[in-house]
Amino acid sequence: MGVFSKIPRLSIRFQSSISKSKQDSYYKMSGNVLNPIHGQDHSSYFGAEIVNRVSFLREDSDFISNSVAHDSTRFIFFDKTNPLINKGGDQKLVMLTNGDHQLGAKESVKKGIFSLESWRKTIEDWSSGNKDQDPGLRDNNMPTFLFLGLEDESVGLNLSSLKSVEDPDNGSEEKYLDYQGRYQGIPYYAVDLSQSTELQNTIINHVAESNGIDKSNLIFSHSRKHYLGFSPKEAALYSHGKMFLDWLSRNRFCPGCGSRVIPIHAGGKLRCTNEETEGMNENDEIQYVCPVRNATVSNVSFPRTDAVVITAITNTERTKVLLSLAKRYADTKLYACTAGFMEPSETVEVATKREIWEETGVVCSDINIVSTQPWPFPGNLMIGCLGVVEFNGVNEVIHLGHDRELADARWFDVGFIKTLINGTNDQTTNPEGLLLPSKESIAFSLIKMVVDQASEPSNKL
Ligand SMILES: [Zn+2]
Repeated sequence: MGVFSKIPRLSIRFQSSISKSKQDSYYKMSGNVLNPIHGQDHSSYFGAEIVNRVSFLREDSDFISNSVAHDSTRFIFFDKTNPLINKGGDQKLVMLTNGDHQLGAKESVKKGIFSLESWRKTIEDWSSGNKDQDPGLRDNNMPTFLFLGLEDESVGLNLSSLKSVEDPDNGSEEKYLDYQGRYQGIPYYAVDLSQSTELQNTIINHVAESNGIDKSNLIFSHSRKHYLGFSPKEAALYSHGKMFLDWLSRNRFCPGCGSRVIPIHAGGKLRCTNEETEGMNENDEIQYVCPVRNATVSNVSFPRTDAVVITAITNTERTKVLLSLAKRYADTKLYACTAGFMEPSETVEVATKREIWEETGVVCSDINIVSTQPWPFPGNLMIGCLGVVEFNGVNEVIHLGHDRELADARWFDVGFIKTLINGTNDQTTNPEGLLLPSKESIAFSLIKMVVDQASEPSNKL
């Protein structure tokens, strides 16, 4: 840990002083992989590592059946992609367990939901449907369950502070799942209740009654204000569940044959339900009519993440920052980083260079990948970069006429941006009332990184 804690700072210095040297690209790459803006645990808002995804266990239906019914299992709930929150509480995201007294002291709901008959029945039905890959998995009142992962020692859980279910003297203490003596921890699930209003009401009533919470505070929120007010743990769990459930709910039909698809492997994949066959192939394998089912590898559909490049742009001396005002945010005066979707068969570096030129007309060839952040609106991975523009009378000239996405773009002095970051600006220093992106966004972290670099004398050429 000691060694790693020093490397991010070195990478910043490297980017600022020697990054133009092509022969050192290996070191540039190592600097890029290590994260100078989100600290050594690489966590960003929405991106904290809360669970070990143990993705290979999703297809183990015994594990899934055990974990979904375990006392310690944590559930978070959605109506489509809106999470159930308690807008009056310290802990915003409502999290429930099957068993009683499974959550830590700070977490308010102590009464388990396994006592609710309708929940117990739902778990049993879903568990057997998941095991059999039942075509009726998405019928009528069936919620969609998504296995998120195990909170285990790899993400900092202290197992010795809990008791395993095999422990005969478990009393009312918290427990953890022990699967085959190999995978031990607390399972997490996201559940989409949009198909079952009845179960939504049952869950909300349970939370309200067990905790004396006013029911009007328990809502499935569609407000980004709430999503940006979560704790880092809540933000990561929300983002993880939301992105998968969004993908599952948007994809109802097979891209190969148009038949219905169902979530299999506890929500990790979608499978076509078309069983129609047309004989055997030369290897004596059944040929399905559906081309997706016939594919040797991608015979299911996988979740998607859309890559977006986002860039803080500065000059070689680190005295200026180029920020832009999108037309759709023009009223808010929110000046942000250049950003855009990556295209197929494009490197991050080329996409970044292209986006900067298309939006601002500025020519920037020195691109460094800095860090990444999941952004669940709806399913993006933000790839944060630093672009350094060599001023020569041409490169830095702003021209908004190419793709016409921006209402404005300007080179700001770093000193001014620093006052916006520190909140020390006022009517005199910021007469236009310009704003920066929210602190939870990678855009803010990237802009702050440039300002921080400018403050370090060793970074100036
Ligand atoms: Zn199909």
